[in-house]
Amino acid sequence: GNDNPYPYLDTLNERQTTAVTYPPDGPLQVLAGPGSGKTKVLTCRVAYLVHHHHLRPDEIVAVTFTNKAALEMKKRLNVLLGEPGANKLVLGTFHSTCVKYLRRYGKSIGLNNNFSIMDYDDAKKMMANFIKPIAQALKEVHIVLKADQVLSEISNAKAKGETPGGMRARAEALGSGGQLLSVMADLYEEYEKGLRAAGSLDFDDLLGYGLKLLRQERHVLNSVKHVLVDEFQDTNTTQYELMRLFAKEGNVTIVGDPDQAIYGWRAADYPNTVEVHLEQNYRSTGAILDASLAIVKQGKSSDKPDKKRIQKGLYTAFGSGVPVTLKQTSNGFNEAEYIADEIKRLIAHTGNLLTFDDFAILLRYNALSRILETTLQKHSIPTRLVGGRKFFERLEVKDVLGYLQLINNPQYHPAFIRVINVPKRSIGEKTLQGLLDRAKEKGLSAMDMTERIADGEDSYHLSMPVNSRKNLVQFVDVIRKLRVQAKNCTRVPEIIESVLEETGYEAYLRRTHADFDTRWENVKELAISGRIYQISYSVTISQEQEARNETSAPASQSAPKKSTPTTADVSTSAAPTESSNTVPRGKKRKATGEASSEAIDLEYAEEEDIASPAADIPAEEEADDSENIDIRGTPLRVFLEASMLATDAQAQDENAVIPRVTICTVHAAKGLEWPVVFVPAVEKGVYPFIKSTEEAQVNEEMRLLYVAMTRAQAVLQLTFADKRMAGKQEIPKELSPFVAACRADGKKSMFEPDYPVISREDRELIASVIGRKPRPEKEAAEIIHAYIVSIPAGKRPWELPWASDTNWRAGGAAFYHNSHNKEHR
Ligand code: ATP
Ligand code: MG
Repeated sequence: GNDNPYPYLDTLNERQTTAVTYPPDGPLQVLAGPGSGKTKVLTCRVAYLVHHHHLRPDEIVAVTFTNKAALEMKKRLNVLLGEPGANKLVLGTFHSTCVKYLRRYGKSIGLNNNFSIMDYDDAKKMMANFIKPIAQALKEVHIVLKADQVLSEISNAKAKGETPGGMRARAEALGSGGQLLSVMADLYEEYEKGLRAAGSLDFDDLLGYGLKLLRQERHVLNSVKHVLVDEFQDTNTTQYELMRLFAKEGNVTIVGDPDQAIYGWRAADYPNTVEVHLEQNYRSTGAILDASLAIVKQGKSSDKPDKKRIQKGLYTAFGSGVPVTLKQTSNGFNEAEYIADEIKRLIAHTGNLLTFDDFAILLRYNALSRILETTLQKHSIPTRLVGGRKFFERLEVKDVLGYLQLINNPQYHPAFIRVINVPKRSIGEKTLQGLLDRAKEKGLSAMDMTERIADGEDSYHLSMPVNSRKNLVQFVDVIRKLRVQAKNCTRVPEIIESVLEETGYEAYLRRTHADFDTRWENVKELAISGRIYQISYSVTISQEQEARNETSAPASQSAPKKSTPTTADVSTSAAPTESSNTVPRGKKRKATGEASSEAIDLEYAEEEDIASPAADIPAEEEADDSENIDIRGTPLRVFLEASMLATDAQAQDENAVIPRVTICTVHAAKGLEWPVVFVPAVEKGVYPFIKSTEEAQVNEEMRLLYVAMTRAQAVLQLTFADKRMAGKQEIPKELSPFVAACRADGKKSMFEPDYPVISREDRELIASVIGRKPRPEKEAAEIIHAYIVSIPAGKRPWELPWASDTNWRAGGAAFYHNSHNKEHR
């Protein structure tokens, strides 16, 4: 019988149901292995909190580990809650969640609400500039500093909440041994000044300032009724503190798997936590689960004492399926060739049950991706990179983003430097340096200085070559024009189009780059992604408390549940009266009603100017509000924010109509699943990574391999090479000790060297595990046959990496028999 009004509860097992329907007040912890439906529980629980316990979506904060996981959850909740509801959840990573609160309330801790997020690339350039002038002096005392190294030290410091002063004190305590650290402390200080001058925060700041805001202004969290954290085992100290703030009265659901902990497990300090354990794995076949568990079982003994193990046994109702294979190849190149061939073969041998979308190649670190990308490309296999920021680091993408950043925040120095001579404005190095020096002297940003020069308000124009000055004036005109447009235009693709048009970027790119076509594609992709962000990042924060009057008492907790106007309601009823295009920056403008202007629900933004001013604004607000009100609430800022926090997959995901093989780091693959997973480079020095030597670290490396393997649903292949290029050298490699130690579990072999023929039974199991219908056997057989006859002339089947001499003959015959003998069942 079905007596529950929520159909999704029918898709859950008993334990899952217990967790989903547990009352919202009080801490709940779901501890379970991979693929046991933890994320599914979390997602359903969000829906249930809304449907059954009548929490408003904007009273729920749900935090995931990666952007991609957040997007997955958003998609599922769009279905369970409907899109307008799902859009109001505060759903994202810790970073993106902090950004949302900082934009809205950051002013109370002294942040400008148009702050930029400085990505790693820009931070590195800035740091390199700080190091340059002292490099020679350092060399004399035998210190060579790299920007990466300093940034990593700073990042560690920020994670601990250490200031430059704190770092300096630590250096002094070390005496003469603290020389290097003391230099780092100076650079840290300079770096912080640089960030502030550019009106920007780096990634670590987002968490640090987020923490500061939530600690200092507790009322901003008044509307939060429940917080849910996925992949809890990976929260670091700052994130853990953030969670505790969100979970005021212990209204928290945390979900995690101690065995997948990458950063080490801390028990939650909620003593009355109710624990639910899940034991059925719904993701993977028996062979995959067995092999994965064999890996992780090794690491028990030396783990930290506080680590909670839940080795209650994870089981699957699926059969054993295709065995996990462990393939040895001679070098990294052949490994990539093998994977490419296997992808094609598996598609064929499953009778086209699979598409490229169903494959993932999971890497210990990004550098392993290059050879795979190029090899797969050679085989005409399209790929998508997840977890990197390569797309956003491309020259042409950075150029266009640079303009957008500068329009959004004139103080953002990296953007100014990037675009001032793009396209060429013949502003020479000396002229530019003079301009920058002058700006520094006057305490102005480079952009402000440039505007003054262009307006003839600064005498520096007199010392500029006439031509440069003319071009500078033109540059300022363009920026001003774009600024006005960004203020009035709610569609980011249109702003991008204007940037291209006003700057003549297409012609410039064509003129200066031989590979114009691919670069232009990227520019277009960025414009398309502008559209995507308008959909996938349309998230709002509760409008219940008004930043409009920050000194007023926070809104009552007992406000009637359904009566507070939603963002959409407010924004669609706002009167769009501001139409002036000519208000210069800096002039005080009437502030808008913040309740509506903060709405970044961009689907509505297309219809209404959400930055439109309201009539009755308290006077102190007008005085208090800066010029930046100009583009508050416009999608541009949301787009930039998303671009800075995004990883590559998101730029490509939604508009990717063609199926692609995912190439992804193991870290970025957390929580995700694919029908077929390859894990290359299962070697000593990779698993565990060469730098991880301490026992605890080694155990974490082992768990990382476990995470990678447990992403697979139906087919899992590990590969390793005898030799691999490291820089310009080829170095010998050997199998990872994690795998070597458990090739066999008792009598049972965990890995096969290869598995050349997928039988009909295999096909059927694969189909059921991934929830698809297999093709009728006759059709499948034709596809397989066509594949085999398509093997290129001159290349004999047994020369293919996947078909070793003997098993090809045996397997080939078996295959032929299976597919052509109708009697065979
Ligand atoms: P991980 O630890 O890797 O994050 P997880 O525990 O979060 O895994 P989910 O991603 O939620 O697991 O679920 C794994 C797969 O199992 C998903 O495809 C999900 O839809 C499916 N699943 C979960 N619970 C059930 C269930 N009760 N019945 C059928 N399928 C389920
Ligand atoms: Mg999960």
